[in-house]
Amino acid sequence: MALHKGPQKHQERVLSVNPFFGEANPVGGMTEAPPTHRLPDAPMPPTTAYQLVHDELMLDGNSRLNLATFVSTWMEPQAGVLMAECRDKNMIDKDEYPRTAELERRCVAMLADLWNAPDPAAAVGCSTTGSSEACMLAGMALKRRWTQHNADRYPGARPNLVMGINVQVCWDKFCNFWEVEARQVPMEGDRYHLDPRAAAELCDENTIGVIGILGSTFDGSYEPIADLCAALDALQERTGLDIPVHVDGASGAMVAPFLDEDLVWDFRLPRVASINTSGHKYGLVYPGVGWALWRDSEALPEELVFRVNYLGGDMPTFALNFSRPGAQVVAQYYNFLRLGREGYRAVQQSTRDVARSLADRIEGLGDFRLLTRGDELPVFAVTTADHVTAYDVFDVSRRMRESGWLVPAYTFPADREDLSVLRVVCRNGFSHDLADLFLDDLTRLLPELRRQPHPLTRDKGAATSFHH
Ligand SMILES: *Cc1c(COP(=O)(O)O)cnc(C)c1O
Repeated sequence: MALHKGPQKHQERVLSVNPFFGEANPVGGMTEAPPTHRLPDAPMPPTTAYQLVHDELMLDGNSRLNLATFVSTWMEPQAGVLMAECRDKNMIDKDEYPRTAELERRCVAMLADLWNAPDPAAAVGCSTTGSSEACMLAGMALKRRWTQHNADRYPGARPNLVMGINVQVCWDKFCNFWEVEARQVPMEGDRYHLDPRAAAELCDENTIGVIGILGSTFDGSYEPIADLCAALDALQERTGLDIPVHVDGASGAMVAPFLDEDLVWDFRLPRVASINTSGHKYGLVYPGVGWALWRDSEALPEELVFRVNYLGGDMPTFALNFSRPGAQVVAQYYNFLRLGREGYRAVQQSTRDVARSLADRIEGLGDFRLLTRGDELPVFAVTTADHVTAYDVFDVSRRMRESGWLVPAYTFPADREDLSVLRVVCRNGFSHDLADLFLDDLTRLLPELRRQPHPLTRDKGAATSFHH
């Protein structure tokens, strides 16, 4: 959660409320708005409270025009009904809600099958609040396996985790919170993600694992997981070091199985110990669900698993949270049941079609250079062409916001900090129609942008609040 400060002087405004709202208050009528930074002294009628909160939220952006997020912004009404029916269910109450627990178990089994676990019955997994929690759990399992194997040297030796510099911020968090050294392979030239050879070279006897990303948050490209495993196989032959791989499939683990069946990236590779995905990204569920799976119980040290008996039963759990909403897990199961493989394939294919076609047409405008084309994740990154000097991607981001479009612009990490891009994340619900409207707005803007004397968005941070 954002780390917020307590009440600030300038925020303490005294506002009058719409007299209509006051009228609704049976006790004398309300003329002054309630305080917003301390609890009001007395209750107010629910209709008034609703209206006040509702009105304030009108200033949020429109989630369907949010091309910054990977997270689902549309589900079918039936899924919404199911979620409403389950909003009182706590996922941890497995003994009280055995059917919800069973749906979670089935989802894990379906994912083990989808990701080609050699023995699906041996695979273990759990739901999480999202990929961030799933990555923390996977990282903890890697670290604990390493400490078990290096008990004679730990705690003297400092564990490290190898990854591309393009990792999502959750891996920086993992390394920070769990005191693991992050060894990051920089970008180089036109390579915007991990290089397998460079990754293997960073490994030593204190490496707990290597992270491969399917696909990269920065540009939507798939990292070469099979090549990464091959490079680590070669390393093992040379040095005896046996280093496991975790695949961060936050987005791609729900895209590649349907659209890129020939791509070998999952448990078919013996070195892949664990995989995570965000159910709320291309798993097509509203925010609040992720998944972590381990190839077998050897990959997930038993000592990390907790059994609590005070809710009745003794279902084993692996999680950072205790309480957590059950509705998203139910919605994930609904989607699996509702769409099946064919349905997921059709949905993801149409999203990829929208991404590729929009990327091509943006390239056709002449002012832009594509870094990726939306043919891996349905996501593409684009920068301004070399001849464009009047404006930059931050100007485009800021001006597109005038039409309601939320498209982030940001600079790349080391060693390509010189590169600034716009990133467009296509999701189910961003249709060909909406993509046409997006292109119309961009096309209409270009003559004005080209007339600028120079790029105008001085405060780059203001163009977007996006970082990862
Ligand atoms: C989004 C993302 C995460 C974090 O996932 P949440 O579900 O938002 O917690 C981690 N890794 C990658 C590659 C991502 O794209």
